[in-house]
Amino acid sequence: MAAETDILIVGAGPTGLYGAYYAGFRGLDVIVMDSLPEPGGQVNAMYPEKMIYDIAGFRAVKGRDLVASLLDQAAVFSPTFLLGQEAATLEHLSDGRLHVTTTAGEELIAKAIVLAGGIGTFTPRPLPAGEEWVGRGVEYFVPRPADYAGLDVLVVGGGDSAVDWCLALHPVARSVRLVHRRDAFRAHAASLNQAKELEVEFLTPYTVSGLHGDGTLEAVEVTRVKSSDDVRRLECQAVVAALGFTADLGPLESWGVEMVDRHIVVDSRMATNVPRVYAAGDITEYPGKVRLIAVGFGEAATAINNAAVEINPELDLFPGHSSDSEAAA
Ligand SMILES: Cc1cc2nc3c(=O)[nH]c(=O)nc-3n(C[C@H](O)[C@H](O)[C@H](O)COP(=O)(O)OP(=O)(O)OC[C@H]3O[C@@H](n4cnc5c(N)ncnc54)[C@H](O)[C@@H]3O)c2cc1C
Repeated sequence: MAAETDILIVGAGPTGLYGAYYAGFRGLDVIVMDSLPEPGGQVNAMYPEKMIYDIAGFRAVKGRDLVASLLDQAAVFSPTFLLGQEAATLEHLSDGRLHVTTTAGEELIAKAIVLAGGIGTFTPRPLPAGEEWVGRGVEYFVPRPADYAGLDVLVVGGGDSAVDWCLALHPVARSVRLVHRRDAFRAHAASLNQAKELEVEFLTPYTVSGLHGDGTLEAVEVTRVKSSDDVRRLECQAVVAALGFTADLGPLESWGVEMVDRHIVVDSRMATNVPRVYAAGDITEYPGKVRLIAVGFGEAATAINNAAVEINPELDLFPGHSSDSEAAA
């Protein structure tokens, strides 16, 4: 049987999470869906350990802490999260509601939808030779650095995420090594210097050529690029593969929403050309669009307020001041 809700938000990035709070504030039920197993969108997937300096009200906030605060704020209204599921198909029901299926076979009926899908679903670039070890020592995300306490960790990659994971894991892990297939890194020089000062061992130019263990990971073999006889075996119980992500708007492209350059065209209400389907955050397009978290927050509030009125024309567009309500106490 299909789960029913007032609002379905597709995307649990910062925009979708703030939208979840806002829907609750407007007295609407909300389901938030994301293809990733963890909420937080780009912030959680790409830079959870970085400080962000342009969030209103915070002089500086770590990405991970911002996501935790957004979840905490949304939790006041108990949103339902469907994680690890991609929105697949959309169909209009005769009463105006929207019927959505997910790639995991769930069926949902919503009175309105807010597409907060950012740059699309992220899929981590796989670690060649490491796919069969995912979940048994190889991971693409580090939701809780504390889980790596006392382990020898090998981080693979040359970008900001790879170096940031080294910095985040160094205080808890027994050892941290960084393997990259080039001598040059794309990561910020300051982070690289910090990793060097912490004596993270850099192995360049090497690639991971084999993983070994009895059930769970015990050692990794790395081979020097263009020197196949230079092979090193490294004892390690955990690999963090930070090789980047591919992004794909996937099924949303077949929902009939007008798109320009892989972004969804919205009007000043954040409404798309499809009735009852709104969009907010990085995924939207209109003249003057700026892709920032702060902008996504504003668009989420606009989308939800307008969706509320479309669902129930007796409601005011203006929600009232939250400072006059007791709901968030
Ligand atoms: C390295 C880096 C640093 C940044 N620093 C800053 C900064 O300092 N300040 C700032 O304001 N911005 C910064 N940004 C940009 C900021 O992260 C984005 O503007 C913000 O994440 C957009 O939020 P969003 O919720 O709209 O989309 P996203 O964060 O992209 O989240 C969208 C979510 O939707 C999910 N999704 C997509 N399609 C589907 C589907 N069909 N079904 C289910 N789920 C789906 C995705 O899995 C994803 O989790 C930075 C970005 C990067 C990469």
